[in-house]
Amino acid sequence: MYVVIYVLRLLKLLNRKDVNLTTKQQKDQIAALKLQGMNHRDISEKVFGKRTAASTVHYVLRDRGLVEDSRVIAREEPLGAPKILVFDIETAPCLSYHWGLWQQNIGLSMMVRDWAVISWSAKWVGEDKVMYEDCREHFDGSASSIHEEIDDRGILEGIWKLLDEADMVVTQNGKKFDVKKLNARFLTNGMKPPSSYKHIDTLQIAKRHFAFTSNKLEFMTDKFCKKYKKLKHGKFPGFELWKQCQLGNAEAWDEMEEYNMYDVLSLEELVFILAPWSNTLPSLDVYHDGLDNVCFCGNCEWEHDGYAYSNLSKFVRFKCTNCGAERRGKTNLLTKEKRASLRMNVT
Ligand SMILES: [Zn+2]
Repeated sequence: MYVVIYVLRLLKLLNRKDVNLTTKQQKDQIAALKLQGMNHRDISEKVFGKRTAASTVHYVLRDRGLVEDSRVIAREEPLGAPKILVFDIETAPCLSYHWGLWQQNIGLSMMVRDWAVISWSAKWVGEDKVMYEDCREHFDGSASSIHEEIDDRGILEGIWKLLDEADMVVTQNGKKFDVKKLNARFLTNGMKPPSSYKHIDTLQIAKRHFAFTSNKLEFMTDKFCKKYKKLKHGKFPGFELWKQCQLGNAEAWDEMEEYNMYDVLSLEELVFILAPWSNTLPSLDVYHDGLDNVCFCGNCEWEHDGYAYSNLSKFVRFKCTNCGAERRGKTNLLTKEKRASLRMNVT
């Protein structure tokens, strides 16, 4: 008996695809109901037993080519290696009861609705296309779409697949925010961790190497980027944009989409401007079969630039002829005798 249960459990586990949160049977049912002319909320109620999974219904139908989605641009195969993904997410705020505005202490029992990911935008370095998905399908202006749990499963699957494929990701403050927020939603939605990737965070580079007046994306892209800058306030300034999106305002969602995509475009430009100043970026050399030394900027030409020293070693130092980034050789040039003669600090 126990063996049978164990085998059944094992089969269930094996059958579970990494991000397939919606079963094939559910997807077939969604497609069939759509073809019968049923709307997304009714489909959601019929298939998932609740009316708030319209966003998931939308993305299932999109994947089957049953709805047009001009907002989403299909990804092409990334050029070369490593695959570097620049991305940015937007989240909806928590909703709660509170007694005032100043220094509130909100208990869990005062929460009405938790936060969720409501949009993401991403771009492979080396490709022109900017990808974007959002949860606008969830917000139809009804009170229930605001108060009930936000259905972000549909859009989480898309960003999960991209992260799973990426060798490296580039974010602004993503180490503290975007990645942790995504991980929280992945786990909450029963998803497995995506394959590991290296993480380049422009906020960390900015804090470590510069004393800018502000380390915000808006300030840095405004000062240093030539082609793309983070968009300034449009029709919906500040929080009004998030509020109007939740009220189901289509114009607000269009603005959210534009903001989100420009964040990614300007972030990609910014990372290449900051990169030569950082000495902690992952090496691209190991991702290529050839023996070329590849700078983060993509250049393979280096000029000899004196030597780099540590307390115990001396290495040849090189400078990228394109961006000025430094690298050093791996071989210690000091002889065995010289190394034996060195003296150390007493600590
Ligand atoms: Zn370079």
